[in-house]
Amino acid sequence: THFGFETVSEEEKGDKVYQVFESVAKKYDVMNDSMSLGIHRIWKDLLLEKMHPFPGTKLLDVAGGTGDIAFRFINYVKAQNQRQRQREVKSRQNLSWDEISKWYQNGQGPSEESHVVVCDINKEMLKVGKQKAKTLGHKKGLAWVVGDAEELPFDDDKFDIYTIAFGIRNVTHIDRALQEAYRVLKPGGRFLCLEFSQVNNPLISRLYDLYSFQVIPVMGEVIAGDWKSYQYLVESIRRFPPQEEFKEMIEDAGFQKVTYESLTTELRSSGGGRRQ
Ligand code: SAM
Repeated sequence: THFGFETVSEEEKGDKVYQVFESVAKKYDVMNDSMSLGIHRIWKDLLLEKMHPFPGTKLLDVAGGTGDIAFRFINYVKAQNQRQRQREVKSRQNLSWDEISKWYQNGQGPSEESHVVVCDINKEMLKVGKQKAKTLGHKKGLAWVVGDAEELPFDDDKFDIYTIAFGIRNVTHIDRALQEAYRVLKPGGRFLCLEFSQVNNPLISRLYDLYSFQVIPVMGEVIAGDWKSYQYLVESIRRFPPQEEFKEMIEDAGFQKVTYESLTTELRSSGGGRRQ
């Protein structure tokens, strides 16, 4: 297999990817913001808009790293519950607060708990995520699990939605990770993926080449003291299959209605499908 542009054994790839994220963990968020000029935040917000989770959604965020998707999910669901609550209260103007809370407790209200599990192979990335959760005050409905996307430590048919943001290109056997996504999703569950992909516009493609090969490793060295890891991140993007090929891989895992969309000048793709 390959690690960036290097040819390596499968075992070596896993070890090297682990070392990259172990090394960048503490600086990961800062680097993400500076390398993407903050645009990764917009992509992640867009993913949440696409997801539009309903109250009670059970989400699994694989390769979840420092928790960006999970925190957005929690905030989204909270805001949604609040809006729903306000609507309900408005439509039940004549009820007392006691009656309203009883109504919620009886399970009639939208108070069903949503839940997100962040799963990542790298303990150091999760450590940073847990610390962030503490600082942000996120406690309820959030769990952190060390696990490999290729062999998820969860039962079948458990989750409503599976997300993987900028993670799948680091996995050694993408097909196995997709099969695992299919297995842990409930029938009808959704697979949503954010990933870098091919740039089809020739001018943007040239600019992007210059930026990613000339600027990103330098920034990695200056900000995080780590040229090599950032060089790998850039190279791994180049090795990732183009949009149509990745779509076919998702379909081969059994997903239906698979679509993708190129976000922001076609630099990254989001895609996904539905479990049968
Ligand atoms: N999803 C986060 C985000 O968007 O900010 C983190 C993305 S980071 C580029 C890639 C993550 O994939 C790292 O945290 C890394 O540890 C994780 N990863 C790599 N290989 C993995 C595997 N086989 N199973 C689970 N996670 C993996």
